[in-house]
Amino acid sequence: MIRGLTKSIIPVLFLVLFSSSRTNYSIQDDKYQKVRQRMVREQIVARGIKDQKVIQAMIKVPRHLFVPEAYERMAYEDRPLPIGEGQTISQPYIVALMTELLELTPNTKVLEIGTGSGYQAAILGELVNEVYTIEIVEILGQTSSQLLSDLGYKNIHVKIGDGYKGWPEKAPFDAIIVTCAPSDIPKPLENQLKEGGKMIIPLGGSIVQELILLEKKNGDLIKKVVAPVRFVPMVRHDGIRY
Ligand code: SAH
Repeated sequence: MIRGLTKSIIPVLFLVLFSSSRTNYSIQDDKYQKVRQRMVREQIVARGIKDQKVIQAMIKVPRHLFVPEAYERMAYEDRPLPIGEGQTISQPYIVALMTELLELTPNTKVLEIGTGSGYQAAILGELVNEVYTIEIVEILGQTSSQLLSDLGYKNIHVKIGDGYKGWPEKAPFDAIIVTCAPSDIPKPLENQLKEGGKMIIPLGGSIVQELILLEKKNGDLIKKVVAPVRFVPMVRHDGIRY
């Protein structure tokens, strides 16, 4: 009986593991290409995103691979989606907006806090030479790191750890993007931002926050409020919110 079962399960497992590999990705036979172009037109360009490089990156990166398979068909909708462990992948427009505000050039060295699905990191990886990204939930960090390397991103470095502390060995950074929300600006991140550099960060309560754009000028942070947003909280290893 057990033998029979094993015999019938093995081919099924083989099929599941190898034939439907989502990361065996080729843009030519991407059935979501049209849907993704529509997403960019209707959600990104229509709302005022103008940076052509950001737009091209959003057209290129296969967002559906960054969400759990069960949500694949919703990947291009105008909303955040669950990615497991109580976390979410941000709404496409917010990803585009935060990216555009950093005014990236290929030489901008970027630090992201909150790798999550790896989607925002992939968008950054299309635009700059070096991306450093930190995720506190081990399984999310491992999964996104694997996916990013399967998709060929050699310029994205994923670290599992507490992003509040930044990545001192790789500092300073020209740009910092924080995709989880603390109540105040983490001092280590402020210190690791280069003079003239920009940081985009949601700040405020645990449910709603303000998206803030900071620029370091003569050692001070110049602050601009961008929009109300809703991000998951930035937490410590013990789960307590910063
Ligand atoms: N940029 C992500 C959004 C993920 S949601 C994407 O494109 O999918 C925010 C992520 O921040 C979650 O995965 C959460 O686990 C992570 N996070 C929360 N606190 C953190 C901390 N102190 N350091 C690093 N990551 C943190």
